[in-house]
Amino acid sequence: MDVRAYAALAAKSPLEPYVIQRRELGPHDVLIDIKFSGICHSDIHQARDEWGGASFPMVPGHEIAGVISAIGSDVTAFAVGDLAGIGCFVDSCRECDNCKAGEESYCTKGAAWTYNSVMPDGVTPTLGGYSQAIVADEKYVLRLPSNLGLDVTAPLMCAGITLYQPLRVWQAGPGVRVGIVGLGGLGHMGVKLAKAMGAEVTLISHSPSKEEDAYRLGASNFLLSSDRSAMKSARESLDLIVNTASAITNIDPFMNLLALDGTLVSVGLPDAPLSLSGFTLIGQRRRLAGSNNGSIRMTQEMLDFCGEHGVGADIETIAIQDANAAWDRVVASDVKYRFVIDIASLGD
Ligand code: NAP
Ligand code: ZN
Ligand code: ZN
Repeated sequence: MDVRAYAALAAKSPLEPYVIQRRELGPHDVLIDIKFSGICHSDIHQARDEWGGASFPMVPGHEIAGVISAIGSDVTAFAVGDLAGIGCFVDSCRECDNCKAGEESYCTKGAAWTYNSVMPDGVTPTLGGYSQAIVADEKYVLRLPSNLGLDVTAPLMCAGITLYQPLRVWQAGPGVRVGIVGLGGLGHMGVKLAKAMGAEVTLISHSPSKEEDAYRLGASNFLLSSDRSAMKSARESLDLIVNTASAITNIDPFMNLLALDGTLVSVGLPDAPLSLSGFTLIGQRRRLAGSNNGSIRMTQEMLDFCGEHGVGADIETIAIQDANAAWDRVVASDVKYRFVIDIASLGD
């Protein structure tokens, strides 16, 4: 079927209207009418080919929230009319040890990412959520909470799970002092989720103007990363830090904030390698880790948690015609705190 979308036709080209084909429904497929699609900084990194190897035309978007409008003959988990979401991947090999263990986002053959990737057949390109509809196997589709609103739910599909996973794996909770670096789309979800898990949260930002919001979102402390004396006083005061910054490569100043056996999990993906002094790492027996977006199982757990705790994203809703301007504002750290595209703006 023909579906309206917005695509980048080449690296650094602006997004423009584009018509794509979605496949006919297979027995296990569902068709989702997309209502809202979040704008992740990864959309921009990839469409501008900042990580290398991008393929075009690219229809970005991996924060998809919508409604099931048709199902294949053997679908059991969804019915027409159900709220449904898709995150960063739409399929995976299903055969490797990680897939078998339900860790699809760590598929050893590479998951079929929602865009700028290929399906497990190795050739069919994937096209993302800046579009009216998407088809996916029900195994890779998430059930969305009914109490939040689809607009504030969309960003949970990447920003939410990307922060929920490290907070869960490294056990954020009461008595744990959590630091979040960067108050953007990912970071603001980190503050909200860590707070909802019962942790004490410190926001570390390069933007003085974000202090008030950090407290409003649930942080107990705010550290301005350029304030050397505050950063020095806060040395060895945190147990777990999640670094979401899109453009910081020197993580030494953040590592120094970790107390004994503390862990820094880096999820931000700047286009240059991270740097860290060996001395900083060995001091306080610190650990450095990374994490990708999460499995279907953990993403569903996160969505259920967010429904239960009333946690959605803080969003600015835009028409898709304004997506190029929104991208520039994301790069300038000028969004509070996630742009969400109202897909109705693509027309009927
Ligand atoms: P975002 O909304 O643009 O937020 C990034 C934040 O980084 C900004 O709000 C800003 O926070 C900080 N920052 C930006 N430019 C900076 C600079 N020049 N110097 C210092 N700090 C700067 O982006 P996002 O969508 O949250 O994504 C963040 C990063 O995570 C991106 O690189 C993205 O590709 C990556 N990502 C990774 C995964 C994963 O699976 N691991 C998933 C999604 C995204 P302050 O103003 O508070 O300092
Ligand atoms: Zn993302
Ligand atoms: Zn696999």
